[in-house]
Amino acid sequence: MSEPYRVLVARLYHESNRLNPESTGEARFLIQRGQNILRSPSGVLKGLTETLAAAGLMIEPIFSAGAPPSGLVDQDFYLSLREELLQAVRRVNPDAIGLELHGAMGTVDTPDAEGDLLQALRHLVGPLVPIGIGLDLHAHVTRRMLDNTDICIACKKNPHSDTVECGQRVAELLIQQLEGRLRPVTVSAFVPMTLPGAQETASGPLAEIHRVAREYAALHPNIQDISIFNAFRFVDDEEMGQVVTILSNGPDSDTPALAVDLAKRFWAERERFHDDFLTVDELFALIRNSPEKRPFVIADMGDRVLAGAPGDSTILLSAVLDHYPGLRGALTITDPAATARAAEAGLGATIRLPVGAGFTPGFKPKLITGRVEHISDGDFVLDGPFHEGEHSTMGRTVVLQVDDRIHVLLTSKPAYSHDPAAFTSQGIRLENLDFVVAKSGYHFTLNFAGRATPVHVNTPGIGYYRKGQFKYEKSCFWPEHVIPAPVIYARQHSVNAPPYR
Ligand SMILES: [Zn+2]
Repeated sequence: MSEPYRVLVARLYHESNRLNPESTGEARFLIQRGQNILRSPSGVLKGLTETLAAAGLMIEPIFSAGAPPSGLVDQDFYLSLREELLQAVRRVNPDAIGLELHGAMGTVDTPDAEGDLLQALRHLVGPLVPIGIGLDLHAHVTRRMLDNTDICIACKKNPHSDTVECGQRVAELLIQQLEGRLRPVTVSAFVPMTLPGAQETASGPLAEIHRVAREYAALHPNIQDISIFNAFRFVDDEEMGQVVTILSNGPDSDTPALAVDLAKRFWAERERFHDDFLTVDELFALIRNSPEKRPFVIADMGDRVLAGAPGDSTILLSAVLDHYPGLRGALTITDPAATARAAEAGLGATIRLPVGAGFTPGFKPKLITGRVEHISDGDFVLDGPFHEGEHSTMGRTVVLQVDDRIHVLLTSKPAYSHDPAAFTSQGIRLENLDFVVAKSGYHFTLNFAGRATPVHVNTPGIGYYRKGQFKYEKSCFWPEHVIPAPVIYARQHSVNAPPYR
């Protein structure tokens, strides 16, 4: 019997918001190495490794390195991980490489870090070793990424309830390619626009475009995947826009036109991509007037940690303390200095101190008086389903109770508050509250389902795109810039196939 194929597997997961002034270094990353990454994987890594193992392939696990979205990644740290991966490839000499990447990682020097990484890998292994990656659909997908991968696909849903399936599909396609049953060819079509809103895939224009994509895939058995990438809006790079990719088995004369058709639908529907969120006052009026729906879970759109904002906003805290007496709630504020002060005061102490606004330009700290009710290292395991079972840390965390009604979680690091465990791990009972604040725009609806009523609020901050608010120097896209009707065409990226004509 012949030796099983050996697939080198790794995960490097970060979404880098260049507007966040703090660079993201090693201390922010949770890094596991070797077999440890196979113990309780989640998302793409789980689907990828379980499918490879079930098919009898040999997995060579290298590392899983991930951090909550935040500022640009420290260049030296990125380079050290890249080198670690390249050395592992030299050592293992794998038959294939399977990776989970977010696809919007940037450093100060390299806005397209994944493109750089994949180019380096391809340069090392040559054209004959398949490279397959599973991405978030908010990936910043570049030509360099597509030109250096055999399989480059995204999850299909926002909120991302299908990341495991994405990993399974990467594995299936890698196996087919290794066994000679698949000759992957990807075509892409690019549209220079971002989505100012309507980003969920279950309704609105995105649901319609995905439905057409599924119909095209069903009609063309040669099509192995259609991915629709909606771009991360806090990158500033030349190729910033919507990307549709179609992966077929061998060149297919139909796929270029299909990719272009799907891409053109974005441009045609562009005015429909907008959000209609509540103002802060409308939000708290709703909570006050809807006791039957409590607790609410509020998406603080401007301060979304899940979009790389620092999580240091005091907007909702100030509003509820100053104008909405009687409402009971919990929220997180990233503030390492205030956390240290509160921890030093000790459990049961009452202290008065300014909190928040240490990172986001334009935010103002809020002076509060609170009683220290909980102190911890901030470690918790996410309930999921998004990131289910993943270990996360808020760093040292102190809960202050203010006015006997508001629990302020002062955290040393931005918190994954899209998951109830961020709160319950700190002794907070959601059922006793009128609201909790999630610094997330979409995924919190999955993780709080059945436990709280989701609602979005239009708050300032660097976690939500607003036309004209941020500086873009390299990119040119609608609606930020005036774009004449773009010429949308298909490009072929296959590593081994002849060019499409
Ligand atoms: Zn995403």
